[in-house]
Amino acid sequence: MNKIYLYNTLTRKKEIFKPIRGNKVGLYTCGPTVYNYAHIGNLRTYVFEDVLRRVLEFNKYRVKHIMNITDVGHLTSDGDTGEDKIEKGAEREGKTVWQIAEYYTDAFKEHLNALNILMPDKWVKATDYIKLQIKLIKKLEKKGLTYKIADGIYFDSSKYNEYAKLAKLNIKGQREGARVEVNKEKKNSTDFALWKFSPKDSKRQMEWASPWGKGFPGWHLECSTLSMKFLGKEFDIHCGGIDHIPVHHTNERAQNWGITGSEVVKYWVHGEFLIMDKNKMAKSEGNFIILQTLIDKKFNPLAYKYFILQAHYRSKLNFSYEALQAAQTGYDNLIRTISSFDKPGKVCSSCLERFQKAINNDLDTSKALAILQELIKSDKASSVKRATIIEFDKVLGLNLNQYKEEKKLSDDIKKLIEERQKAREKKDFKKSDELRNKLKEQGISIKDLPDNKYELD
Ligand code: AMP
Ligand code: ZN
Repeated sequence: MNKIYLYNTLTRKKEIFKPIRGNKVGLYTCGPTVYNYAHIGNLRTYVFEDVLRRVLEFNKYRVKHIMNITDVGHLTSDGDTGEDKIEKGAEREGKTVWQIAEYYTDAFKEHLNALNILMPDKWVKATDYIKLQIKLIKKLEKKGLTYKIADGIYFDSSKYNEYAKLAKLNIKGQREGARVEVNKEKKNSTDFALWKFSPKDSKRQMEWASPWGKGFPGWHLECSTLSMKFLGKEFDIHCGGIDHIPVHHTNERAQNWGITGSEVVKYWVHGEFLIMDKNKMAKSEGNFIILQTLIDKKFNPLAYKYFILQAHYRSKLNFSYEALQAAQTGYDNLIRTISSFDKPGKVCSSCLERFQKAINNDLDTSKALAILQELIKSDKASSVKRATIIEFDKVLGLNLNQYKEEKKLSDDIKKLIEERQKAREKKDFKKSDELRNKLKEQGISIKDLPDNKYELD
């Protein structure tokens, strides 16, 4: 088996990936907070995670991929102050929190589809597992790791002597600098809420009874709860963007330790930011673009994906429309060239080996794309090129296997398309994804458009 190297944030080293259970891999990726559209910065993180999953599958691992949907508890500060983002979103749009969460969850899945990102094996909503979250707080309470203050139940981070490890936090410096701490009742500035009480002066739409009082779970708790529920008390990979290292994942790791007494996640893998105008793209900064805006400007979402893949996932990437336009031109050229190639013939195994070596080296997609270009320019038969590119595309997910000539659709293909439409209408994205792959195997690429419409490429 070929070796995969991954950069592990926990050790700050590129390590050889060794799964815990044979060829099975447990993968947990932090999902979106569904109070607004994901911006294209968020989507960069999901593209990197998709590449990771595809690389694992390319290396014949069986991946169990879990993604949560944060529909409660993520506060505007990312810490324990401010409003709940979902409640705020509902207020903004005059809808219920449940409507907001459903609408933006669907929009998110549409965007993943447009970027040809594989759906996780399971989506899990934080609000579907409140009881389990309460159970885990009780467990932490029994171990003496929690305390109660006016606005909630908190985790005492000073009890975990490895608290600072993941983010290499300077706790001493942080405590000395904690004069700005908003919540003076907290014992340590790094303590975080496990359960927040509902405010006395206003009514929340989402709140639950608990042994400590009515309220809602802290944001970090859902990911500890859901990852361990579905992947076990020890699992392989946990991903997210780098902003999650110092707070969300540090706190998750502390909870995991509190619950199990040991290290739960073997590899922590984080993607760098998409930058715009020198700042990270963020809704809170007001400098964000959503995928639909790119589509409205006639960019192909896959050209945006191509743009992302040109950079390494651990490098910052500057977004500009000029750079995206260049990627669009490059992508169109690529598709035009490939579509003129003959039907797939034999795969070039040495090309495949080089490609695999690149992507196995901490997901070096820019090198992989260079290898793709070299192959295209080589003097190999175009049938060999096409066959090899089909293999490359299993990792790149750029929908590269397209044909120029008009296709006459057979009855079987028509049936598959119909079935897929039905699955899409029922929002069964897993099935529609499977059917899309089936169609792709037969050389039919389907592009999803808004309002359940589609287009054959
Ligand atoms: P959120 O919906 O805010 O929880 O974020 C979803 C994912 O996007 C998380 O993994 C974040 O770390 C990631 N993220 C947030 N901003 C950016 C950005 N500008 N570039 C890349 N990833 C980001
Ligand atoms: Zn998370």
